[in-house]
Amino acid sequence: MTRVLVVGAGPAGIRAAERLVRAGLRPIVVDEGARAGGQIYRRPPEGFSRPPEKLYGSEAGKARALHAVFDAMVASGQVDHRPQASVHAIRDGVAHVGAQRIAHDRLILATGATDRLVPVEGWQRAGVFTLGAAQIALKAQGVAIGRRIVLAGSGPLLTLVATQLLAAGAGVAAVLDTATLAQQAGGGGGMALARPAVTARGLAMRARLGRLYHAGVRLDRIAEDAVHWRDAKGQAQVTPCDAVALGWHLRAETQLADLAGARFAWSDTWAQWLPVADPMGRAGPGLYLAGDGLRILGADSAETAGALAANACLNDLGTATPDTPRLLRRARRMHRFAAAMAQAFPWPGVPLDALPDTAVLCRCEGITVGQMRAAADHGGAEANRVKSLGRIGMGRCQGRYCQLAAADLIARHAGLAPQAVGRLRGQPPARPVPIDALLED
Ligand SMILES: Cc1cc2nc3c(=O)[nH]c(=O)nc-3n(C[C@H](O)[C@H](O)[C@H](O)COP(=O)(O)OP(=O)(O)OC[C@H]3O[C@@H](n4cnc5c(N)ncnc54)[C@H](O)[C@@H]3O)c2cc1C
Repeated sequence: MTRVLVVGAGPAGIRAAERLVRAGLRPIVVDEGARAGGQIYRRPPEGFSRPPEKLYGSEAGKARALHAVFDAMVASGQVDHRPQASVHAIRDGVAHVGAQRIAHDRLILATGATDRLVPVEGWQRAGVFTLGAAQIALKAQGVAIGRRIVLAGSGPLLTLVATQLLAAGAGVAAVLDTATLAQQAGGGGGMALARPAVTARGLAMRARLGRLYHAGVRLDRIAEDAVHWRDAKGQAQVTPCDAVALGWHLRAETQLADLAGARFAWSDTWAQWLPVADPMGRAGPGLYLAGDGLRILGADSAETAGALAANACLNDLGTATPDTPRLLRRARRMHRFAAAMAQAFPWPGVPLDALPDTAVLCRCEGITVGQMRAAADHGGAEANRVKSLGRIGMGRCQGRYCQLAAADLIARHAGLAPQAVGRLRGQPPARPVPIDALLED
């Protein structure tokens, strides 16, 4: 039997596994989480009692359906589920998971995304989280990150997490969006055309924020007990708070795709380097990518992409999949929606003029903007050289939270287009691993 490995048990990975099982295969599904569900349908630990309606809001039905499909496949032995397992390297048809080695003939990577961040002076302080972390604390632990929370950034997660915190009774002090109302109106039309119901739901959520919500803001700095920002008119504002949640959309989790040999291309829509794949997710011989780890299109699209990637794998194994045209049509509509959303809530770019040299850029290693400028001046404006000279992205998160902003900063500092400074090459381990996991190698 062909050995298919699926990395990621979010919406994309689950739908991919489901298709493979239906075609008579028994995939191995590896995921870091204790329970399948991924980011959006993350499940709290066993024994927690918050109902799906509270956890997932309008998406509760979808969460239940996905959890049920996956749990049934695991219970019947149709899927070999490896929870709490992190793939840290991929080489020559072998995935390295801790000290384990998983040989495979085909690989489907459904590794999702993480928050994308713009460095703000003071963001290294205690009490500053990503939007995703604030949501995970709420979803997985029923905990609010603070009593007076400022949420800042842009993108759908900003409004979503703010309304989820309010619905849970948490204290939200302000919701600060860097996207202007004009930008939102510019992209809003395309969003409504592509997915009217989702757009209407987003607007209804926004309305619930009322006067807490501010568009077209600029963040100046995060102090110990307040956020300093400018409103759309440029007026200086100060909002006292005890916690901050930051996030500007998402960045695709592509390190494993890089190690597995995928090619990358610059995406103007998402202002980042993304893996190259065909419309079904083929990214190389025996390699398939799906979900937010390929294109940041949201949970519904991730399900479609997972099914398409599995169909591509089955087609390459000689099995026909008659529903592919329908899935491709659905995927195209999701692409249109996401492109319009990226226009409505654009990546603001790193405000070089708002960041003094003393501002921290790489929080893991405490590297400052000034050190990065010096590294770029010394070694030239190339991402990997600046990393090796400046240690940016060498910390625990391996650049997940600073590399895109660092590349943007290097480019602005050198007067170049962001893609001109190149992208940080993926290198193992893609996740921190205990040394003894590497001893065999
Ligand atoms: C923190 C966060 C919160 C979000 N909340 C929402 C929300 O409430 N509503 C919404 O519509 N969208 C939300 N999104 C976007 C939504 O997550 C995605 O659109 C959707 O979950 C994508 O599905 P996916 O299957 O592609 O990836 P994911 O759901 O992200 O699943 C990917 C899985 O792969 C695992 N993984 C990644 N790398 C490895 C590795 N090396 N080894 C093993 N496992 C690995 C991850 O742990 C994760 O479980 C959120 C995104 C993030 C980052």
